[in-house]
Amino acid sequence: MDLRELQKIMAEIYLERDLKRGAEKTLLWMLSEAGEVADAFLKNSMEDLKKEVADLLAWLLSFCNVVGIDLEEAVISKYDSNCPECRQKPCRCPQK
Ligand SMILES: [Mg+2]
Ligand SMILES: [Zn+2]
Repeated sequence: MDLRELQKIMAEIYLERDLKRGAEKTLLWMLSEAGEVADAFLKNSMEDLKKEVADLLAWLLSFCNVVGIDLEEAVISKYDSNCPECRQKPCRCPQK
């Protein structure tokens, strides 16, 4: 399964509910899932961390469905084959 297929599956499962909730609330849910990822990471729970990163991606895909972004296209167009900032691979930007 690729990212576009996954986004389509998420739409089949959730788009009706996602549209009713709307973009702003969907974005807030996505951010709360990012907090759950941090929680699981800080608790050193790999089992929970796996579930939470899955939730985070699912909510990001829901958000993209609501606002009409094809995430696979968006990622590939920005991160084609080199770093979008320094244009090198591996990245040679100053460490963040
Ligand atoms: Mg979660
Ligand atoms: Zn770079």
